[in-house]
Amino acid sequence: MPPIIDKKKCIGCHTCVDICPVDVYGLKQAKKQPPVIQYPDECWHCNACVFDCPVKAISLRIPAPAAMVFVNAPKKES
Ligand code: SF4
Ligand code: SF4
Repeated sequence: MPPIIDKKKCIGCHTCVDICPVDVYGLKQAKKQPPVIQYPDECWHCNACVFDCPVKAISLRIPAPAAMVFVNAPKKES
């Protein structure tokens, strides 16, 4: 599922547009405006835009089948 942008938090920096490896946001966007998600089906849930958004305005809905492959790393015993 595509990312969701909180338009109240977004400052329109377009770091997410620049960093998305598959151009979910499209290529040309009006700066200082929240980006428009132009190709939502292309999102592969890499989380790059979520991690790099400076104001944490992006959330990602990871589909259940994809979420099942994520596991927490085991804690190291000291
Ligand atoms: S990186 Fe965050 S603040 Fe910048 S345009 Fe994208 S959603 Fe908005
Ligand atoms: S999660 Fe990855 S693929 Fe999806 S929109 Fe963000 S940067 Fe692009």
